[in-house]
Amino acid sequence: MDEPNRSVGVGEDVLLGRCERCEWSVTAGSHSAVVVAYQDHLRERHPEAWLRG
Ligand SMILES: [Zn+2]
Repeated sequence: MDEPNRSVGVGEDVLLGRCERCEWSVTAGSHSAVVVAYQDHLRERHPEAWLRG
């Protein structure tokens, strides 16, 4: 999984995800991790959008 020496925002493996509905953003080491974080954000901040998928 994640390597301890990896720095956020530097490596090519770090992905950035942004919310289309607010200023929220997330960085994660894999596409799936970005998706999970974004789904959590939607559920908490935009429940209507989350319910629609
Ligand atoms: Zn949002």
